[in-house]
Amino acid sequence: MLTGPSIYPMNLVVQKYGGTSVGSIERIQAVAQKVAASRREGHQVVVVVSAMSGETNRLIALAAEIHTNPSAREMDVLVSTGEQVTIALLSMALHEEGCDARSYTGGQVRILTDNEHSKARIQEIDGHRIRDDLEAGRVVVVAGFQGVDEQGNITTLGRGGSDTTAVALAAALRATECQIYTDVDGVYTTDPRVVDDARRLEKITFEEMLEMSSQGSKVLQIRAVEFAGKYQVPLRVLSSFEEGPGTLITLEEDDDMEKPVVSGIAFNRDEAKLTIRGIPDTPGIASTVLGAISEANIEVDVIVQNVGHDDTASLTFTVHRNDMSKAEAILQRIAKQLKATTVESDDRIVKVSMVGVGMRSHAGVAATMFEALARENINIQLITTSEIKITVVIEERYLELAVRSLHSAFKLEQQDLVE
Ligand code: ASP
Ligand code: MG
Repeated sequence: MLTGPSIYPMNLVVQKYGGTSVGSIERIQAVAQKVAASRREGHQVVVVVSAMSGETNRLIALAAEIHTNPSAREMDVLVSTGEQVTIALLSMALHEEGCDARSYTGGQVRILTDNEHSKARIQEIDGHRIRDDLEAGRVVVVAGFQGVDEQGNITTLGRGGSDTTAVALAAALRATECQIYTDVDGVYTTDPRVVDDARRLEKITFEEMLEMSSQGSKVLQIRAVEFAGKYQVPLRVLSSFEEGPGTLITLEEDDDMEKPVVSGIAFNRDEAKLTIRGIPDTPGIASTVLGAISEANIEVDVIVQNVGHDDTASLTFTVHRNDMSKAEAILQRIAKQLKATTVESDDRIVKVSMVGVGMRSHAGVAATMFEALARENINIQLITTSEIKITVVIEERYLELAVRSLHSAFKLEQQDLVE
């Protein structure tokens, strides 16, 4: 899919700077200094930048003032301009640092995507132009978040899409590492705003990071993590404001003796829970209920079905909070058809997940988790597990308490060592 042989196996890095890292002229100048320093260390550097912080939202708001349902094509022409401003300014700042640099939009590189405006997927990247510049000793600055379709229409990759641009470029150019510079200095065992002694992880696997991101950790765009895992691009998350090694996201190594059982705790306050009770316990019921929900384009997350003594079943599932009323209306309609007894909804819930590849080879994680929650008298409403994750749904007001007690029950504040 991604073309081009590698001629820079050792020292090509792709560095991505997000919106806050390029949020002002001073910050753009600071980024230029960091990039110039990497160059002086002997690295070839491709830089991917986001729009200055707040800019993408500002552009979206402008469109909303003109049209209630603006054309997807024109939205992409509009929002892609944010990144175009940053690449030019950063290149100028690099020139000021005495560093030869050239900026390119996604279309100029030829980051080819499908034509799904606002959520396009990268299909191919032409690395030639970038390679020529690198060979000539230049830093290459590429606009994140954007590409072009076969017809040359500008497309964008979805909010937070600059992460994906960076990873895709790193894959296409066979970069040694893709470094995501952001406003936090790495990936933490959990959100440090909730747990004071949350610890920065030295290393985490692609799989774990993917679970953390999809369970609510917002450090990286999920698609970028998927992409990095698929093409095995070592990813590093680090701060653009302070020095430090950040967190390396990489493949799991079999002989990794220091593999922790649990790597982190993710949580998500964006979901709501719905239950339909008293439905017939017959084949096809889950498909009738959830089929109708998915036909309405509502994504369902945790699903649990129970059968009672009276041979009727109940089905509980979670959806995004924004979709709760829509989903409830659908359930009311189905409840009539199926003669169900009740439909309930609750948006004061949260999802808390323990994530770790070490769970594969260690029993007892669930027991420790449930004990810790029981000690705090926190009722578990739903449970779901995968090979490397245990998720519970609990009442929203217990979120902080739950995360703190789990963090200490699993001693996540200490160095990651298997006992
Ligand atoms: N500027 C885009 C956004 O705000 C893309 C990005 O920052 O990654 O979503
Ligand atoms: Mg971002």
